[in-house]
Amino acid sequence: MGVLALQGDTREHLAALRAAGAEATTVRRPAELERVDALVIPGGESTTMSHLLREFELLEPLRARLADGMPAYGSCAGMILLATEIVDAGVPGREAVPLRGIDMTVRRNAFGRQVDSFEEDIDFEGLDGPVHAVFIRAPWVERVGPEVEVLATAAGHPVAVRQGRMLATSFHPEMTGDRRVHAMFVDSI
Ligand code: GLN
Repeated sequence: MGVLALQGDTREHLAALRAAGAEATTVRRPAELERVDALVIPGGESTTMSHLLREFELLEPLRARLADGMPAYGSCAGMILLATEIVDAGVPGREAVPLRGIDMTVRRNAFGRQVDSFEEDIDFEGLDGPVHAVFIRAPWVERVGPEVEVLATAAGHPVAVRQGRMLATSFHPEMTGDRRVHAMFVDSI
């Protein structure tokens, strides 16, 4: 599978996927996107990644693959990009653009209005025992469509969701040694 490698914590996701038993490679070019059967969109800055998706001519090919059902997992900035709709997407002309993989509305930097970054142990549907979740200027989910399952919440908002073989978390499992979320994604493919 691929890890989008335009910006963000690509290396941590590559390591986590490999530890979870997957073959993982970076994706920067349309030809590389064509060769992967699933994609991870890392944490980082969704506005920068959106700009680079256009620059690298990946935006429409990626939307097309997602519309076609390619499995994807997004953490933090990746969750924002996987949404159908983004609230507080950024300054006009430099906004984060929705790739429309998961039927949800995501608020960018949602927790940031209260506290920039925090860590919390949260229950995660389908995993035994809580996950230590690292939130960094994290989004939350404000609306989910009928086909979206909420797997975890924090401060009363969904922070992990799944729709078919699309998964998204507001937090960064790639930054802890816990590989269960990556394994959940890998095992679903
Ligand atoms: N606030 C960032 C964004 O808007 C996300 C932060 C992160 O990925 N840690 O993309």
